[in-house]
Amino acid sequence: MSVSVRIDPTRCRGHAICALFFGDGVELDQWGFGRVTDGTADTDRLVRRARRAAAACPNGAFIVHDDGVTLAARSGA
Ligand code: SF4
Repeated sequence: MSVSVRIDPTRCRGHAICALFFGDGVELDQWGFGRVTDGTADTDRLVRRARRAAAACPNGAFIVHDDGVTLAARSGA
């Protein structure tokens, strides 16, 4: 299984929560804004973590694309 992962910079508000769940693939800047370092989660473990990060992001900025289906937990605030 493999999914693609990205962070929408227009929605990201620097909560840094995604790094707790998807720390292997997210880098935070000095203000806590996330940047995806590897846009692919290609193991079951990474896919689970990416989905948790998407569910936890309070702004719907952490986005997982799974075979045409987009998962972003919230519409953004
Ligand atoms: S949890 Fe969401 S809003 Fe916070 S840094 Fe990650 S992507 Fe951005």
